[in-house]
Amino acid sequence: VPADRLEGEPVAAAVREGVRERVARLAERGQVPRLGTVLMSDDPADRRFVELKHAACQRVGVESRDVRIDPEAAATRLYDAVDRLSADPAVDAVFVQVPLPDHVRAAEVRTRVDPRKDVDCLGFGTLGRLVSGDPRFVPATTAAVLALLDAYDLPVEGRDVAVVGRSAVIGRPLANRLGQDRLPGNATVTVCHSRTTDLGAVTRRADVVVTAAGSPELLDGSMLSDGAVVVDVSANRRPADTERGYEVVGDVAYESAREVAAAITPVPGGVGPVTLAALLENVVLAAERRAGGGDRDR
Ligand code: NAP
Repeated sequence: VPADRLEGEPVAAAVREGVRERVARLAERGQVPRLGTVLMSDDPADRRFVELKHAACQRVGVESRDVRIDPEAAATRLYDAVDRLSADPAVDAVFVQVPLPDHVRAAEVRTRVDPRKDVDCLGFGTLGRLVSGDPRFVPATTAAVLALLDAYDLPVEGRDVAVVGRSAVIGRPLANRLGQDRLPGNATVTVCHSRTTDLGAVTRRADVVVTAAGSPELLDGSMLSDGAVVVDVSANRRPADTERGYEVVGDVAYESAREVAAAITPVPGGVGPVTLAALLENVVLAAERRAGGGDRDR
């Protein structure tokens, strides 16, 4: 029996509906939530990711500001842009698109995002709070994976979960959150990365495999256990004979995996739309806290 297809769009639509209601409540108080994004890349894929965020904002009545910096420019231009958005009272949330150019010091960016606006937990404080189980925000990709597992009633409690990827923005917070003593969570998590000797041996042991490696066809059916649940976070561009000249694929060879797995997210159309909706939810949360006058602690 081919695996169930875990469509992201219905899950995203439900999240967006909740966001719209909260935006309407803020509007009654004369407040419009606003996201500020910073992009320092010429890569068409990175541009597209940022454009999708602005389009998602527009759909639910969240305003947004789009700051773009030449990737060749001095790193201080980026630091200044983050400082300005952090200090701007009209901006509720700040999102910095990664990867950043090599001459940028990630630590400089991390310390400059106002924690009250740090929806992706770039800062040491926000990340620390997430890891300690008292999150100010749950980063959008992590929240999206949790929402999908929850919506499709796929509990991870007590199960072996392999997370492939350990980046600061995706793999690390996700793996940590899935292992926490809360639901969805309570999983036994193994984190894999580029130095993992035998990736297939780890993923074959797992009941649930979550991949965020950014590597097309890294995994196929032969690396999965029968009845595994597969959540593919990656959105990789691969040259292809299409109108745009590329296609978007995940880390998992879908057709091969669906013969073995019980359930699998498609790429595109799986985690991606839910991540966008989860980002909106975080923007609204930041705006609500400001409206309430709370959350003064940094
Ligand atoms: P990243 O910073 O490049 O991190 C990739 C991680 O995967 C690293 O930890 C790396 O290991 C590991 N890895 C790479 N190749 C591997 C291999 N062959 N075997 C095992 N592990 C391997 O990427 P990222 O920013 O986390 O993004 C990951 C993917 O998610 C990308 O495709 C991106 O486009 C996608 N993405 C999706 C969404 C969404 O909403 N769905 C949002 C943002 C990003 P090392 O640590 O050893 O280098």
